[in-house]
Amino acid sequence: MKIEIVTTGDEVMQGVIVDTNTAWIAERCAGLGHEIVRQTAVGDDLEAIGDALMSAAARADCVIVSGGLGPTADDLTMEAAAKAFALELVRDEIVLDGIRAWFERAGRPMSKSNEKQALIPEGATVLENRVGTAPGIHAELGGADVFFLPGVPKELFQIFEDAVFPWLHERARTACAFKVLRCFGIPEASVDERLFGMDLFGARLSFRVKFPDILLKLLGCGQTTMEAQRSVDAAAAAIRGRLGDIVYGEGETSLAEVVGDMLLKRRMKLAVAESCTGGLVCSLITDVSGASTWFERGVVAYSNRAKEEILGVAAEILRINGAVSEEAARAMAEGVRRTSGAHIGVGLSGIAGPGGGMPAKPVGTLFIAVATPEGTAAHHLSIPRDRQWFKQMAAATALDLVRRELLGRTA
Ligand code: ATP
Ligand code: MG
Repeated sequence: MKIEIVTTGDEVMQGVIVDTNTAWIAERCAGLGHEIVRQTAVGDDLEAIGDALMSAAARADCVIVSGGLGPTADDLTMEAAAKAFALELVRDEIVLDGIRAWFERAGRPMSKSNEKQALIPEGATVLENRVGTAPGIHAELGGADVFFLPGVPKELFQIFEDAVFPWLHERARTACAFKVLRCFGIPEASVDERLFGMDLFGARLSFRVKFPDILLKLLGCGQTTMEAQRSVDAAAAAIRGRLGDIVYGEGETSLAEVVGDMLLKRRMKLAVAESCTGGLVCSLITDVSGASTWFERGVVAYSNRAKEEILGVAAEILRINGAVSEEAARAMAEGVRRTSGAHIGVGLSGIAGPGGGMPAKPVGTLFIAVATPEGTAAHHLSIPRDRQWFKQMAAATALDLVRRELLGRTA
């Protein structure tokens, strides 16, 4: 079903409040496999609301409207709808009694203006509001089913879940299934390029960047849940085939979780020696519940003295090659591996900026080394962005390098 969402309110237009209602409604509708074809926001203006309602109703099968059902002078949605569609608004005594009862329960006097909330278009269905005064309204207008909901989120949610969602659910022709593939290591545009022209077995693919990850969301629809799931699974397998180990996981799984799982299966432990990331790698690792089973220790060795004293990095290396060098990163990785007894040691050293850059080693220079029982691999990267970006990208890259190292080892 084609659905449009219309949000009303000067506060939304002026950016005073963020329109979270639209996002929430859209997600619920899309989850049922309905298609959101347009989202419109208009101010508290009779003509603008009327226009938006008429054009949405002309295009879509269903229109969901948020806001402007309150009692005050700026609550104009029903009046605008009545004008636009030449409707008669009639006072609904049951609704009015309900509003009166609500005020009684709340121990507050009802004002005259609340009576306005009992004005319902002729022939429309009233949708009970259990948490506030303004009921929702369902009316057939201009060839579409239009749902009017209050702007207050908790009232909107309740009426939507009680009345609108079941209605939409009945009309969801199809069953749907989702899958999210999590990628790391290449830019969004490159992922897109690699997937160009792919057969996705009827599934729909959308990209989302959740820095530093790229999420590929697959939506598959079919007559049955099994058919929908099959379409999504086939598309996911095809994408994995193209992207290979750029896809590190699915759903909500973080890179650190994936690394942890791999270490656990191989009965290995990890130790980390960080400089420029200041402990961020360890923070990502310890975000994972149960990390103690595979994470041995982390060291933040910021100064040269710390690198020498804690990790046993040779003073020579620091003097000749510098703290930011392949040699230093190697020595850090090997040092933390040796002193901890872990199977794998990781060392990071770089220049996060904005200060501290040199012609030979500009801001963004990063060395990551991964030490294993078989030897040490060092990587030279360049991440010339702001400090936070640098740290996050560097930390995620370190985890990803460990993941890639583990991919080559059987579980
Ligand atoms: P009321 O009876 O409170 O006037 P209403 O149905 O007329 O309800 P609005 O006046 O449009 O709704 O909005 C009431 C409040 O609800 C706003 O002040 C705001 O806090 C919240 N709200 C309205 N629209 C949105 C939206 N699109 N997203 C999130 N919150 C919203
Ligand atoms: Mg209002």
